[in-house]
Amino acid sequence: MKDLLDLTLDEFKSELISQGESGFRAKQVFDWIYKGVFDYNDMKNIPQALKDKLKDGFKVGIPKVVEEYTSNDGTKKLLVSLEDGNLIECVIMKYIHGNTICISTQVGCRMGCKFCASTLGGVIRNITSGEMIGQILLAQNILGERISNVVLMGSGEPLDNFDNVMKFLELVNAEYGLNIGQRHITLSTCGIVPKIYELADKDLSITLAISLHAFSDEKRREIMPIANKYSIKEIMDACAYYIDKTNRRITFEYSLVKGVNDSKEDAKALASLLRGVLCHVNLIPVNEIKEKEYRKSSKEDIKAFEAILKSHGIEATVRREMGSDINAACGQLRRSYLETRNSN
Ligand code: SAH
Repeated sequence: MKDLLDLTLDEFKSELISQGESGFRAKQVFDWIYKGVFDYNDMKNIPQALKDKLKDGFKVGIPKVVEEYTSNDGTKKLLVSLEDGNLIECVIMKYIHGNTICISTQVGCRMGCKFCASTLGGVIRNITSGEMIGQILLAQNILGERISNVVLMGSGEPLDNFDNVMKFLELVNAEYGLNIGQRHITLSTCGIVPKIYELADKDLSITLAISLHAFSDEKRREIMPIANKYSIKEIMDACAYYIDKTNRRITFEYSLVKGVNDSKEDAKALASLLRGVLCHVNLIPVNEIKEKEYRKSSKEDIKAFEAILKSHGIEATVRREMGSDINAACGQLRRSYLETRNSN
């Protein structure tokens, strides 16, 4: 059955017209859905006959909440189930400037980054654009507030699910839909170089975030298998192309792991790699996962790392650790849920 959340307004209109319905009904139905009303029975201005037809022909693929946790800092972590029973996570963060949601783009991930819990069981399947939209609509209903920012930083590699993510970007931005501006959307990638070029050619104004985590290929290969495929030089060239095409500042994510990539020399080398690049560095104290021995850098080392970048003129901030009391790091919640269930 087609998911209405996968369709643009024009696509839905054509569907209705081809079934002998009036095209204007499409907008009426979308207005309800994007207002948070997902049950056709509750759509007051829709005739019963059309409601029946919709029930038979189209689903509204909102995921179901399996578990919900709220952190002391207000961050909410949702474990949700998709229609086929697959579980994914999303995180809602409340900032003064609005609500941000971190959504998943794949069930699992096949990138194999050593410190990440999402990838431990490989990838199971891609998430559809409708399922990405569904995560946001669900979150808005739970919060009772609008979501204004979206980061594609949950489980999965967005550029490994390119077509669905592109469709999602169209839908999330559409005025008839969630109407979230492209500037309020961040796509994070481990660095799939050809796809970065493809993305740049779409001329969008979303923020591109690159998970760099090391200044040299040698170091990067130790923690990120994708580094065997693409070199940092190739990534930086692709970023230069992205900046040139979009005029957007790139975010480089750098998860600080004790004794692995957090020394003063690392910071200096990173600063020289990024010299002159229109960018911002997001330093993330690594979220410790029980399956791996990686440990968080000390507060002093993190501060020193940030200070070195800044002294070299590189903009850097340390990401606030939100929701760490509720297993908010990528993939942790799903894993612990599956483990508990499997051991029962
Ligand atoms: N696949 C994409 C997006 C998902 S992960 C990517 O690689 O960018 C979002 C960010 O969280 C990435 O920078 C990722 O490297 C980082 N990350 C994953 N697990 C982490 C952990 N345990 N601690 C800190 N950062 C982590």
